[in-house]
Amino acid sequence: MSGLLDKVSGTSADTIIINSSQLLTLEKDNKGTGALGSIKNGAVAIKNGLILETGTTSEIRKSYPDCSDVIDADDSLVMPGFVDCHTHLVFAGERSNEMEQRLGGKSYLEILGDGGGIHSTVRATRAASSEKLFVLGMERLDRMAMNGTTTVEIKSGYGLNEETELKMLQVAAQLRREHPLDIISTYLGAHTFPPDQSREEYLKWLSGKSLQLFKKEAEYFDIFCEEGAFSLEETKKLLESAKTAGFKLKVHGGQFNDLGSPGVAASLGAVSVDHLENISNEDMDLMAEAGTVAVLLPGVPFFLQSGKYPDAERFLKKGIPAALATDFNPGSCPSYSMQMMITLGVFYCSMSAADAVAAGTINAARAINRENEIGSLKAGKKGDLIILDIKNPEEIPYYFGTNLVKKTIKSGKIL
Ligand SMILES: [Zn+2]
Repeated sequence: MSGLLDKVSGTSADTIIINSSQLLTLEKDNKGTGALGSIKNGAVAIKNGLILETGTTSEIRKSYPDCSDVIDADDSLVMPGFVDCHTHLVFAGERSNEMEQRLGGKSYLEILGDGGGIHSTVRATRAASSEKLFVLGMERLDRMAMNGTTTVEIKSGYGLNEETELKMLQVAAQLRREHPLDIISTYLGAHTFPPDQSREEYLKWLSGKSLQLFKKEAEYFDIFCEEGAFSLEETKKLLESAKTAGFKLKVHGGQFNDLGSPGVAASLGAVSVDHLENISNEDMDLMAEAGTVAVLLPGVPFFLQSGKYPDAERFLKKGIPAALATDFNPGSCPSYSMQMMITLGVFYCSMSAADAVAAGTINAARAINRENEIGSLKAGKKGDLIILDIKNPEEIPYYFGTNLVKKTIKSGKIL
């Protein structure tokens, strides 16, 4: 932290944001306990893209009387930008036809088993050029920014071969260079098995050559442990290999069935386990012990109408930080909106509005190891904020289905 603080030392500010109804700093939030750190009529000072100080509007005005770049929040809520810590943002094609099939009674796993689902997106993504994927990615990031997201994790996993997994990760890197939002990359070759290779061949490539090849392209290794995808045994072996190769670990676990992957992931020091509709108390104890973050993706059961949501209360009671993310993807949650995920978290996952706000900001930052840089408003952290057209955080779920973001501010600049 001190390095960051050095950069912002001095008495002048580039920008001040004043006159909020309340400023939610999340500064004292500890594992999503809902300590929003609200400052009434709060304000923020920013220099070189980083937060200098938070306080009341009169305090900040007094400290920086010469600052000419003043953003007036006009009695609206100001809080940290959303951190969307689980997305599959780079892909081609769309799957609205499968939504129709599901409404006709076919399940997600049945569609996957019949060569649709992830396989349909794999065909489209293999066929798409890097340029096309990049353009699609830029448009999607713009929509996320308009909805208040300032940091996005992006997974590969629609290539399932060397050429297209690399293409996806390189497109994510290009998006990182060219879009103002921050991008974190995850290698998800273990999304499912490709139709054009044997299981043994693919497992061998995943646990060997692919890890060496993609180590410099991605910070995280992720795997989908589920019936119809990777078994618990395969998951354990691949996570061990990825850890040895130097990746940080994430797991898609407990989505449709409790196969035991959260406990295995936690024992190997995974940063997060994501989905978690189905998890045993024993695995939760292992997550609590390891400090593994529970990333809840309520947009998926909502869109799949599966009827079963993850229960945040179970995690929070055990002291496991609960995060929220969109899981933005073409099959099970084509939503750009973290506000919608907060709404679903409150209505279906037994979260308070404060729990859900912490889950979409500071705890989501924990799920990508960025809690010292983003996710709360604190001196030295990035000037990533949003101004919402409401006065209280409870109004996010209250006005469900509406984009309440008036301004998204990334590193001190209005997007
Ligand atoms: Zn996912």
